[in-house]
Amino acid sequence: MRDYYDILGVAREASPDEIKKAYRKLALKYHPDRNPDNAEAETKFKEAAEAYDVLSNPDKRARYDRFGHAGVRGNGGGAGFHDVNDIFSAFSDIFGGGAGGSIFDEFFGGGRGRSPRQARTGGDLRIQLPLTLEEIAEGVEKKIKVRKDVVCEACSGTGAENGTPDLERCETCGGAGEVRQVSRSVFGQIVNVRVCPTCRGEGQRLKNPDPVCGGTGRVKGEETITIPVPPGAMEGNYISIRGGGNAGIRKGPAGDLRVEIEEVPHEDFTREGLDIFYDCFISFPDAALGTEVEVPTLKGRARLQIDAGIQSSKILRMRGRGLPELQTTRRGDQMVRVHVWTPQHVTPKEREMLETLRESDSFKPKPQAREERKSFFSRVKDVFS
Ligand SMILES: [Zn+2]
Ligand SMILES: [Zn+2]
Repeated sequence: MRDYYDILGVAREASPDEIKKAYRKLALKYHPDRNPDNAEAETKFKEAAEAYDVLSNPDKRARYDRFGHAGVRGNGGGAGFHDVNDIFSAFSDIFGGGAGGSIFDEFFGGGRGRSPRQARTGGDLRIQLPLTLEEIAEGVEKKIKVRKDVVCEACSGTGAENGTPDLERCETCGGAGEVRQVSRSVFGQIVNVRVCPTCRGEGQRLKNPDPVCGGTGRVKGEETITIPVPPGAMEGNYISIRGGGNAGIRKGPAGDLRVEIEEVPHEDFTREGLDIFYDCFISFPDAALGTEVEVPTLKGRARLQIDAGIQSSKILRMRGRGLPELQTTRRGDQMVRVHVWTPQHVTPKEREMLETLRESDSFKPKPQAREERKSFFSRVKDVFS
């Protein structure tokens, strides 16, 4: 069994933060979404999770340091993850999770913890990010321009005219940062305390505000932001980018940016969960005699065998050609719904042929056993061209 410190690539005296960072890096590298059907990556992913489970817990870490693997086995010991889902639920602080679809919130959010809200914190922003099914299938890195409050360059965000704030006591609150309002009622005196509207609770104000930004340290502008979208995102999911929102007031922390995934309707496919459906029309002779058709998939075109005697509305399943599930190795299928095209105009000669066929016994409908009638789904092998 490998040493846990070696697995994470950290020194024995590494701080909890270093351990968390090291694990985050490995988890991203060996994440099943990025390594579909790669058993080695999955092993590494589990190994890293087990090492992190022990080293991130002060008790377990101390026992491991003294007694090695024996110290953390058994009761309250090594995590023993069975599958990757255990890992996601065990370390939800790293992988995010919880209600509302914020699955990759923390994971892809850049990692720093949420700072306590301050009076000078910039506001949060929300944007919609339209994605095609192809982008959702593969994962994508999107660069988008966001209109927002950005740091004022004239004063480097200080809000002061020459870049050096000259502060004086706030007159409104006398430096207390809050104002009191006393009113009388039948119940006696009511004191209402609230944050000073002039200085927003700081107790001081700038004597030399920068005229460019009016002393706020920020101006209207735009920023290009790179958004990493993992494969398998769905409409309603969102990605939180810490500090991606409006710039703070006078160097206060920036707000967050919430990027909401929007699915662009596809020309060829409709989505049902992880599966995608495609409608394929074939001619009547092709249905009777069998043929090979070309169908679009999310990864280019594929050829599909149509067996002789196929019935209309039969669904052919192309395994694994659907959408991946977020954070697992599962993948949906592509369903090809076969429709037999009935001719809408026929020439006199064709009419004659059809009249003959009408009399033929082979052309009389004979739905077979119940099972056969119900088996609309059939698996097929598909060959990529
Ligand atoms: Zn300024
Ligand atoms: Zn004040």
